[in-house]
Amino acid sequence: MAYRFLIVGAGVAGASAAARLAPLGATLVLEAEDQPGYHATGRSAATYIDTYGAPTVCAATRASRSFFWSPPQGFADHALVRPIPELCLARPEQADALAAHLATHPDLRPLGAAEIRRMCPILRSEVDWSGALNDRVAELDVDAILQGYLKLARAAGADLVTGARVAALAPRPGGGWRVATAAGGFEADVVVNAAGAWAGEVGRLAGLGDLGLTPLRRTAIRIDPAMRAEQVRRVAHRWAGLRTFAPDRVPVVGMDPRADGFFWLAGQGGYGIQTSPALSETAAALINEGRLPQALRAEGVSEADLGPGRFL
Ligand SMILES: Cc1cc2nc3c(=O)[nH]c(=O)nc-3n(C[C@H](O)[C@H](O)[C@H](O)COP(=O)(O)OP(=O)(O)OC[C@H]3O[C@@H](n4cnc5c(N)ncnc54)[C@H](O)[C@@H]3O)c2cc1C
Repeated sequence: MAYRFLIVGAGVAGASAAARLAPLGATLVLEAEDQPGYHATGRSAATYIDTYGAPTVCAATRASRSFFWSPPQGFADHALVRPIPELCLARPEQADALAAHLATHPDLRPLGAAEIRRMCPILRSEVDWSGALNDRVAELDVDAILQGYLKLARAAGADLVTGARVAALAPRPGGGWRVATAAGGFEADVVVNAAGAWAGEVGRLAGLGDLGLTPLRRTAIRIDPAMRAEQVRRVAHRWAGLRTFAPDRVPVVGMDPRADGFFWLAGQGGYGIQTSPALSETAAALINEGRLPQALRAEGVSEADLGPGRFL
């Protein structure tokens, strides 16, 4: 069957792109696993931190804020965010890095050792901590966000096929792409590569290389609250997942200049959930109008900052 848009991957990147593209034309999402969100999206630490990452990433995070705090009607039946302040800590030998962080984000509140220990009594008392408090941070309900995007996409007519790992991609004579999967063959005018840790592999399948996209393993731990350092005796929960980075640690969002109709939406690193509203809006605006949405332009971001051309 022929579609206008074919999205490879049903993590947060593919699902959010489907929600934005489906109103513009027939949209298909192909997912290798039996369910959406099984890989990086299901393993995130679920936080929104607007001071995390390179300036372009911070801009995309800020441009995503209003979506999470005021999602579209019917997106979810409860709040997507739970505000929770972030305490950024530095040991004495990290004081220069903290000073640079505070200079980049002057609205953060610097904290001294006594205040830090009062807020977080489990820290070692012999260390002379310094730090910064960010009270705009929130926990995100990632499952509600993913399901909300999929709901929007389905409501606009998108199809989702699971168990459909893309194994081959070939340009169609006259434009567009033919895609082969275990679940059959499909055609589309535009392929959106939102394959997370496999985005480089999908690029190679299309004959375009991997742009240097590299999946890196990240382990997260969660400990139970405790009143003193000695009381932290066990890790309550520990998990790992792959965060995929472009060489400059900024996501790759843009049409490949070498191949008409091949669009990259990859390399979201450790920020793919918190930037998903702005980056999916960017994908749809670039595909449909060839320019960034106003929210990112207002932040001073250009097409070149995000596009794949910076690695070619
Ligand atoms: C430990 C950890 C903590 C993190 N914490 C945060 C955080 O606090 N905040 C934040 O914003 N981000 C965080 N992240 C990053 C975030 O999880 C990712 O940036 C985001 O989930 C990437 O989404 P994605 O859709 O690109 O990738 P994925 O969720 O991996 O989705 C890609 C999908 O593509 C499918 N696929 C791959 N190849 C094919 C193929 N050939 N055919 C069909 N389908 C294919 C895969 O099966 C997968 O479902 C964290 C990540 C990790 C690992």
